[in-house]
Formats: sequence, structure tokens, C-alpha cells
Amino acid sequence: MQALSNPKPNNISSKSYLYKLLGKRHLLWLWYQSKRECVISLKDFRLFTSPIKKEEENEVFLWHAPSCRYTRLTPPDAWIFRLAMSDEKEAKSLIEELSLHYTTAELAAAFQRHTILMNKLEAISTPPPSTMEPPPQKGEMLMFGNLLCNLKCAYCLSRDAREEADKGKAPKLMPLETARQSVRFIAEKMTGKAEHIYINFTLGGEPLLSFDRYRLLRDYCSEVSDEFGIPVTLNMNTNGTAFTDGFIDYCEQNGVTMAISIDGPQEIHDAMRPFQSGRGSYDAIVKNLPRILNSGHPDINNTAAGAVLTALNPYPKPVYQHLIELGFRHVVVTPVRDDPDREWSLNEKTTKAFQDSYTEYAEWLLECLVNEDDRIYAAVIEHDFFGRYLIRVLRGTKQPYRCEAGRTTFGVGIDGGLYPCDSFVKLPQYRLGDVFNGIYKEKQSAFLKDTMTDEKPVCRDCWARYQCGGGGPPNPKGFKNL
Ligand code: SF4
Ligand code: SF4
Repeated sequence: MQALSNPKPNNISSKSYLYKLLGKRHLLWLWYQSKRECVISLKDFRLFTSPIKKEEENEVFLWHAPSCRYTRLTPPDAWIFRLAMSDEKEAKSLIEELSLHYTTAELAAAFQRHTILMNKLEAISTPPPSTMEPPPQKGEMLMFGNLLCNLKCAYCLSRDAREEADKGKAPKLMPLETARQSVRFIAEKMTGKAEHIYINFTLGGEPLLSFDRYRLLRDYCSEVSDEFGIPVTLNMNTNGTAFTDGFIDYCEQNGVTMAISIDGPQEIHDAMRPFQSGRGSYDAIVKNLPRILNSGHPDINNTAAGAVLTALNPYPKPVYQHLIELGFRHVVVTPVRDDPDREWSLNEKTTKAFQDSYTEYAEWLLECLVNEDDRIYAAVIEHDFFGRYLIRVLRGTKQPYRCEAGRTTFGVGIDGGLYPCDSFVKLPQYRLGDVFNGIYKEKQSAFLKDTMTDEKPVCRDCWARYQCGGGGPPNPKGFKNL
């Protein structure tokens, strides 16, 4: 990139200097656009004010999306950027304001720094492959093992399937043969490509209600592990209401890892996750936690809490705080996935409330960082909906697609149908094949192409695209891009 000609600040007011620099119609912007070989687009920038020191120091940071880098700006540098990113009307009022605050010499120096910075950013705009987030070295199979449950959670992903099964129109349990073939399928597919395979047989219902089946599958995972020479871990997502000491002993002896679904403080949890009778399930979970979280076994005492955030209470901060207080060392909070017209769903009307509450939560995380508050380690983890974005910012890595669905992660329905992940099970347009006959390659390729961030018109120019990874494909059980 050529440097702009040196500004000549002598003998002119700062206002006329700025007008001269920018011209009648936002010259800086036009100049960047007109350079055909220039890879810099002003859409790729975002200015942030420091949420911690905004009062005293007015710190401003500039984020550059393609290189995943941010840099601290002095106040006049930040003004120059605002000017470059503003439209004509805004530019005029910014010039008025700028000329009141800064001398011509200060503005000229800021503009020089701006040019140098843009030159540097252009040089790194096509980052080397090492800045890509490395794909996880694991294969994952998410199986709808059963449709039996003692709870009646409002947002249950299996709500409709369970109703069908209750009417006798569908089976309630995955046949053992299908479950075994699912384990074999992922082992065959991922051996040599992954270091570890995780099986989650426990979606769709409560695993402890079909525990005999679960035990048999666990034994089969050991056989497959020996046969393929790769560790195969059977994980369990449980609603945490049906634990017995015998079950916890079993987990400790067999290296079964767990995640417990609990939505945070009692009133929030009980409103969404009652027993079939309508009674809240919070007390039944909490009474078992000391035994689990103080277990001598590191896989058991590290059991994660999984909470769902709904529009009825879209505040992540108190949820994390409460679950950490209960003793969880890992907390995963995820915005609800349900039909957009439900009162608890994420949709056009409720998105703003989620955005505001996540901003408040992010400010709390920053306070934790500044105050060396260890609670941040329970919250900022790769599995967490928000934590993974922060981790990407801190590492400066890019994620060119949303997640591993359809790549190294698959979902299996009770009938053995293969889908990109559990969110798509039973949606015929996303069926990729089945565990007995394999994957239809063309369907898989089409799905993967649709999930690439740079392919999506709505995400392509978004400043956060490589931290977000882009939204998922359109899904009836979710709001547009989430
Ligand atoms: S515990 Fe899980 S499977 Fe059971 S109703 Fe709640 S969300 Fe659905
Ligand atoms: S889903 Fe939204 S935030 Fe993510 S990349 Fe697309 S437009 Fe940006």
C-alpha cells in the first residue's frame, strides 16, 4: 500500500486541515475503496471503548476482523478512525467536534499513525494458516438413546418426539444394535484422524431411566476402544434427579464423565424444569451435589453444570455465579433453542435483552480478570457458548465455521439416522445417511459448504465473523443464525 502524501498542517486551522484531508465526501474511505489491490475494508474494523477504564482514561481499542488483532488507540487516533468509518453527515459533525479538541499538529500526527497502522494491518490481513483455530482432535457421537424422562422441561428438544412415542407412534428406546453400530461408525470414521472419541448416548431422555442399556453400551465402548486402539469415553448428560450412591460408585469405577442440567437459582430452574407432576426439580439435584463435586475421582468432581438461558430470565451472570457457588468447577450456559414463537425463545423481540445481559456478563468477567477472581476459570471454557468466543479473542485465532457438526461430530436418531448433530435429528432435510449404510457424501458436502462463515451473505462482512464462526444453518428449532 502506498502511503498517503504527507499532511501539511502549517498555517491552517485544524478544521480546514480535516476538510482538506477528507475532502467534501469522505475522501479517506473512498481512497481505501478505490485501491483495487487493497485488501483492507473499513467494514472489518470495530472500535471499542474500554469497559473498565472508560471513566478515567477513555481508552479505545480497534479490532481488525481478518487478522484477529486489536490495538490500543490514543483518543485522537480513535477520532481519525471514527471519521474514516462514518458517513458524510456524521463526518461533518465529527470534524466540528475534532477541531474543538485537537490542534492541527495533533491531528496530523494521528493521521500519520493511522496510515502506518493501516499499512501494517494490510500486510497481515491474509493471516498465515497458523492463526486458524486448530480442529479439535476428537470425534463425537451424540445419540438419542431414549425418550424416557421424569421431567417436563418447557424447552425440551425431545418434546415432540416424546409425545409421538407416548402415543405409541415411535419407539422410546434406541435398539442396542443401533447404539453399538453408532459407536463402531464413529470409531471407523475417526481412527487415525482423532486422538479421542466421545460418545453421548444420553440425549432425548434421562439416561438413568435406561441405565441397563447404558451399562451394556459402556462395555461395548471398551471393546471398540481395544479393537481400534483409540480411547472411547461414554459421557452422560443427566437431569441429576435420579442419582444413587451405587450409580456414582459406578461412574467413579468406570471413568464415566457427566454433565448435570441445572438452570441456576432455584426459582429460575424450577420454572423451566419441573417434574412431570409440576413440582420443581432443583432440590432433588442439589442434595446430591456434595457427593459428586467432592468425589475423589477427578472426572467426577469436575462434572460440569449445563444451564439453559431463556428469554424469561436472560441474565447469564447470576446463573454462573450461583452454579459456581454450588461448587461446580465448570459451567456451560447456552441460550435456549426452541421454536421462535415460544415465550421463552430467542427471537427478534427478545434478542436485545440477551445482548444487554451478555454485555453485563462480559463486564463482570473483566472485573474478575482485573481482581484475579478465580471464578473466571469456571466460566471461560471452550464448551461454553460465550467462553469460546473470548478464548478465540485472547488466542487471536479464527474459526471459519460455526462448529464441528457434520465434520467430526454427528447426531444419531433412535432409528440410526445420521445428522450433523443432535439439533438436527428428525429434520429430514438434514439427514446425512444412517449408521448402517454410511453418509451420503453430496449431502454432507452441501451441509458443510452452508456452514462456512465466508459463504453466508449475512455473516460475510460482520466484524465478529471469525470469533463467532457464523451462525448455524437455518434450523426450525432455533432463531435464524444462532
Ligand atoms: S430432563 Fe432433558 S430430556 Fe427430560 S424433559 Fe428435561 S430437557 Fe427433556
Ligand atoms: S451469526 Fe451474527 S455475529 Fe455471527 S458472524 Fe454472522 S452476523 Fe456476525
